[in-house]
Amino acid sequence: MADDRARVVVIGGGVAGTSIAYHLTRLGVTDVLLLDRAELTSGSTFHSAGLVGQLRSSVSLTRMMMYGTDLYRNLAGETGVDVSWHEVGSLRLASSEERMQELQRQAGWGRTFGLPLEILSTDDAHDRFPLFEPAGVLGAAFLPTDGYLDPSGLTLALAEGAKQRGAEIRTNTRVTAIEVAGGRVEGVVTEGQGRIEADVVVNAGGMFANQLGRMAGVEVPVVPFGHQYLLTEPIEGVAADLPTIRDPDRLVYFRPEAGGGLVMGGYERNPDPWAVENGPPEDFNGKLLPEDWPRFEALADAASSLVPALGEAGVVRLLNGPEAFTPDGEFILGESDVAGFFVAAGFCAHGIAGAGGIGKVIAEWIAESEPEWDVWKMDVRRFGAHYRSRNYSRDRAYEVYATYYDIHYPGEGRQAGRPLKLPPAYAQLQALDAEFGEKSGWERVNWFRSNEDPEHELRRPRGWAGEHWSTAIVTEHLACRERAALFDESSFAKLEVSGGDALSFLQRICSNDVDRKPGGVVYTQMLNRRGGIESDLTVTRLAKDRFRLVIGTAFGNHDLAWIRKQRRPDERLEVHDVTGAYACYGIWGPVARDVLASLTDADLSNAAFPYLSSRQIDVGIATCLALRVTYVGELGWELYAPAEFGASLWDELMEAGRDYGVVPAGYRAIDSLRVEKGYLAWGSDMTPEEDPFQAGLGFAVAKDKDFLGREALEARREREERTRLACLVLEDPRAMVLGNEPIFADGQVVSRVTSGGIGYTVDRSIAFAYLPADFAEPGARLETEVFGERVGTQVVRRPIWDPTGERIRA
Ligand SMILES: Cc1cc2nc3c(=O)[nH]c(=O)nc-3n(C[C@H](O)[C@H](O)[C@H](O)COP(=O)(O)OP(=O)(O)OC[C@H]3O[C@@H](n4cnc5c(N)ncnc54)[C@H](O)[C@@H]3O)c2cc1C
Repeated sequence: MADDRARVVVIGGGVAGTSIAYHLTRLGVTDVLLLDRAELTSGSTFHSAGLVGQLRSSVSLTRMMMYGTDLYRNLAGETGVDVSWHEVGSLRLASSEERMQELQRQAGWGRTFGLPLEILSTDDAHDRFPLFEPAGVLGAAFLPTDGYLDPSGLTLALAEGAKQRGAEIRTNTRVTAIEVAGGRVEGVVTEGQGRIEADVVVNAGGMFANQLGRMAGVEVPVVPFGHQYLLTEPIEGVAADLPTIRDPDRLVYFRPEAGGGLVMGGYERNPDPWAVENGPPEDFNGKLLPEDWPRFEALADAASSLVPALGEAGVVRLLNGPEAFTPDGEFILGESDVAGFFVAAGFCAHGIAGAGGIGKVIAEWIAESEPEWDVWKMDVRRFGAHYRSRNYSRDRAYEVYATYYDIHYPGEGRQAGRPLKLPPAYAQLQALDAEFGEKSGWERVNWFRSNEDPEHELRRPRGWAGEHWSTAIVTEHLACRERAALFDESSFAKLEVSGGDALSFLQRICSNDVDRKPGGVVYTQMLNRRGGIESDLTVTRLAKDRFRLVIGTAFGNHDLAWIRKQRRPDERLEVHDVTGAYACYGIWGPVARDVLASLTDADLSNAAFPYLSSRQIDVGIATCLALRVTYVGELGWELYAPAEFGASLWDELMEAGRDYGVVPAGYRAIDSLRVEKGYLAWGSDMTPEEDPFQAGLGFAVAKDKDFLGREALEARREREERTRLACLVLEDPRAMVLGNEPIFADGQVVSRVTSGGIGYTVDRSIAFAYLPADFAEPGARLETEVFGERVGTQVVRRPIWDPTGERIRA
């Protein structure tokens, strides 16, 4: 390797950077140079508690943790460096009924991931960790393959593995600048060793990742927080093979320490963000923050109430180490808006457990241009411009940290940093007593309390699904099917692609044929090189060389970055995010045409304005782009008006709808309507791992054109072991799935739920899942585990509602 050039420069010699270097070399990318401004492990890594827990709330993150655990088991053998891996298992206690339900739910997920998670009685849990006081504990989950290790040992082993395969590591080499030209990274400048040219630069800077990101013009919204744990003198009964233990109701965790003491840490309610604005000091290596006993006291008391011996044990030290947290509690991974500049940071006190998976994902992303697993939830591109505000990121990260161990009911929204982005008719929505949720910073209506109707109380889903629920959802759903409902969808992400090469560009990246006459609307996916679904959207041709792309609220940043990445340098093309420039209202239902006709002279007949077409029309005094599309399975239009017309357009539509019984409605009704109609959601029902044929979207794949992912798509179709998305109906119409529930056939787990909900018109609890071909045919009988209870389930033909599509083409 030349001194001043490497194919990949990794900045950061913590557990993340070394794992990335290790995995790159495993993939054959050996021209790797890792730089650290001080010694290896001298950031957050050396002071980690070293617990490795695998079960997480998402499939991909759990897979990453499982992969890591497997790696740690074998790493010492491979590299000759001891990582002190102790596969002692982990206990997670429940001290409340709700927590017990959470454990049941997690045990269900665990099964779908192939994790041997067991639910134990309190006595059995006590047998495994006899130091805890069983009074008040209702039970526990036990995962025998969890454990703990030495974080510095792990880092050194990964570094050794990387070096053995050709990577170079230079410590005491500070990066002072990152060079970017024409939107692409070109190298780094170091203190002492000058400029180093690189094709790819990885920011694995831990809590320093924002400072490093800014050198390349990339905001990485990590927020450092002091995280504390206590180390005790030896305690009788503590041996190195005790399992680790977490008591989320008391906010604490423990693990045995080699010398016979306990390590005890936790997530306090009043966490301590540190060095938020400018990042940690330049010389903060091998250092800790001052111990903060007042902040730790509540945790120490709670921990002693669980493990009384702790209260009597001598304290060796209280360690306060800073660590990078993120505004949504997820890792930050992937290629940034600057081509070739990758980020791997923000591990929220799980970087040791995550390191193996992090290294694998980033190395694949670099070497193979896409990771094997769907890591969208961790993708650096998920953050919108509002995360550039350090105050916003800090407030969000604070809430995430302070509520880390809380039970988070589905549908429960975060509260910090709200309201931020307001739709044009916000005041009107408020006046209608809207219950707002939040997505990508936007306030969005979940339902209108003004639509509540006690008669629908009987349809409240059982258990957790009934927590953030309202009878108004049923009112709104039924109104849409029977008359019409008006939805504010202004938060939809809207992109405009224009220029002489706009058409050929979109034809290349969309799997459907978007070459329609101006006014044509096309439902399509964009696929990755593996044929997986990277985006799900509609493309409207506004003019010969101008297109409007409409995408789900949460995915706009991802799609924008994806689209920009596919662009070739010589293409005459502009891509703009115009999300905030337009209000959007959906009016759908059997009377939608009549309502709209009362406000416009435009011909709305089926012949003049067919399904999947668009026109610029006047609606009342506002002018709008009207799209005849639907995500609820009813006749209707989406109306896009310049944002400044949005409030008055809403008023006019509400006023005109009054005589027809139109009801304002929210996103929870959309969700139950779309499930009934068999419409899928990107991110759950389709992800970068599944292809359109598997998802039943073959109708949206163009037959006679080439496009990105086509070759892989064809090859995938040949594979015998392919699963297919199936629509399932549960026998109990009030047993609502929330996602990830295991599905059993003949007593064996065969799949997990991707999404679902209750269809209030058909009065069925509906779920989607990818099933092996043997079980995917309508009529197949299965079982779904909902909070520990098996519910009879049948595969049915999709969609359940309006299977011939008559209503949408009415
Ligand atoms: C108290 C505490 C307990 C924890 N317990 C656990 C646990 O039990 N389990 C678990 O999984 N995780 C735990 N964690 C989290 C875990 O330690 C971190 O997520 C992980 O160590 C982060 O690793 P990293 O490589 O991203 O960052 P770091 O280890 O901080 O590495 C970043 C490196 O970047 C280098 N760098 C920065 N700027 C530059 C520059 N300009 N030029 C060159 N180099 C630069 C730094 O010197 C540093 O070495 C804990 C964290 C803390 C603080």
